[in-house]
Amino acid sequence: MIDRDEIPDGIDPDDLIYGQNPDHKRPGWQEYFLQVMDTVATRANCDRGRAAAIIVKDKRIVATGYVGAPSGLPTCDEVGHLIKIAYDERGGQHKHCVRTTHAEANAIAQAAKHGTAIDGATIYIRMTPCLDCTKLLINAGIKHVVCRKRYHADHDSVKMLADAGVKLDVLSQEQETYDHMK
Ligand SMILES: [Zn+2]
Ligand SMILES: [Zn+2]
Repeated sequence: MIDRDEIPDGIDPDDLIYGQNPDHKRPGWQEYFLQVMDTVATRANCDRGRAAAIIVKDKRIVATGYVGAPSGLPTCDEVGHLIKIAYDERGGQHKHCVRTTHAEANAIAQAAKHGTAIDGATIYIRMTPCLDCTKLLINAGIKHVVCRKRYHADHDSVKMLADAGVKLDVLSQEQETYDHMK
């Protein structure tokens, strides 16, 4: 509380008293970074998963990325998806949009482009990473992965992160399925 006797001359006591907002709820660091991630995700330009990634070191955001076409090239939102068919080991057929780079890879590329060290950093992402991004994250020195949800086909990624000694926190066991055509 403010002691009115200690307020210097020339300062209006009301300015100090009205500056107190004990009921204002600040988000914790984790929630703060996840909220920033949601804002970055609005820049994604393929509707097959508008995901984003935030790379954080010492509570400082050092790189961001979102799902998108390579810089300067037409986006899915502008010209439609670039769909390729892939088959899994059980013969299942999956359609993928290959025009875009994943958010995690784009965040690493942004750090590389600007010469930003991300060794030992934490990455905040919407769902557990795909296997390709997992390998990039390990090699980029990411030591902690925080995801909101699980991706439905994340078995190999989860195992590889564990084998590499990368800490993985998944905040909800809810699963996301998004690699099939709508
Ligand atoms: Zn697309
Ligand atoms: Zn990926």
